[in-house]
Amino acid sequence: MRTVEEGALRACPECGGPLPEHGRFTAWCAGCDWNVDPEGGREEPAGRGERIRRRLAERHGERLLADLTADGVPVRLDAFGVLSFTLALAVHAVTVVLLVCGALLLAGASGFWSVVGGLLALGAAWTLRPRLGRLPRDGIVLRRADAPELYALVDEVGRAVGTRGVDAIVVDAEFNASVSTLGVRRRMLTLGVPLWEVLTPRERVALLGHELGHFVNGDTRHGLVVGSALRSLTVWHDYFQPYPRPGDIFEVVTNLLLLPFRYATGALLTLLDLVALRASQRCEYLADAAAARAGSTGAAVALMDRFLVADPVEIALRREVNARRMNGRGRRGAEAAGAGLWEALAEYAADVPESEYERRRRVGALRGHSVDSTHPPTHLRRQCLLRTAREAGTVVTDGAGEGRIAAELAEARARVARELVRDGLDGT
Ligand SMILES: [Zn+2]
Ligand SMILES: [Zn+2]
Repeated sequence: MRTVEEGALRACPECGGPLPEHGRFTAWCAGCDWNVDPEGGREEPAGRGERIRRRLAERHGERLLADLTADGVPVRLDAFGVLSFTLALAVHAVTVVLLVCGALLLAGASGFWSVVGGLLALGAAWTLRPRLGRLPRDGIVLRRADAPELYALVDEVGRAVGTRGVDAIVVDAEFNASVSTLGVRRRMLTLGVPLWEVLTPRERVALLGHELGHFVNGDTRHGLVVGSALRSLTVWHDYFQPYPRPGDIFEVVTNLLLLPFRYATGALLTLLDLVALRASQRCEYLADAAAARAGSTGAAVALMDRFLVADPVEIALRREVNARRMNGRGRRGAEAAGAGLWEALAEYAADVPESEYERRRRVGALRGHSVDSTHPPTHLRRQCLLRTAREAGTVVTDGAGEGRIAAELAEARARVARELVRDGLDGT
């Protein structure tokens, strides 16, 4: 990456236009796009599967954007949503059939083989059962009593987007946030401290609006049914794994018999994955609309920009953690070494100049940046928000409430910092 020392280069070598002077960030020209993408797409995601997913994400994203803004009112569940739901239910129906057959065989057991058959069917049904979400075992869980003000804000955002709040809030060290279902009905919200700490209060409201928006659209229910069906299919696919080097005639015949089942489950797995991918993109656009309703269109767009600079912010976090690990060991405990970590990160994020955001927006449009392959490309999500009617945002926080939330989160954020400094970040 070509970076320019402070004041070393002031004019664009292509067109002579002025260059922004931010030593830490890539120097580029807003006039002619000189050096806008010095890595030039060299960061292609590793696997071929992931590349295909990304390309599809881009194509779906564009088509969906056209659909969504044509009439202004997005459809909640489209054909892809219905199809993925139906496929998933069919997969679970097979599990139910296995369960019933196993039970019937055992109940009417009239010999050794029906007992074996019954037990095998029950065993298979057990491995294929849908797994329900649960709280992370060693995560930091905030209950309503621990963080009443934060829960009240989540409730208020929920009302603004048309749903209720959550039953558990989990705090972790990711530059991300998410929602999921606990068991059948209870709701969990996961907030990553690194993300939360670099957001303004309005962007936090937009973030909560986006996440709770997923409950409004039934995405988590859909995700639970489809996600568990994908897991069941993967188990099937493993069951039909052939012998790698068949040694005798029995193994050769077994492999031949397994082949059609393996192809069938493989094809179904790919189909369900792709259909669900398209359905999940629609959900993201709808969740973005909820983010704007709660926090305003401006805050929802600003939130998206934060994800554009996720990489440099995560690098900065890694640098801060490493520096603290070097200083903190031996002389001071991890407790003291973790102090000030989030302040330093927030300061770094606040210093990212507008020109760097703009550069990343242009690179995103060139290369198709997205949070991951379940999300439409970020520049399309931005366009979607900016094309629809501007929202002023219905949830407004005040300084006193923000202070109380910060106090409620203080222990969790200190613990995340302490654990980061103690354990280091992956890949360091
Ligand atoms: Zn230029
Ligand atoms: Zn989302």
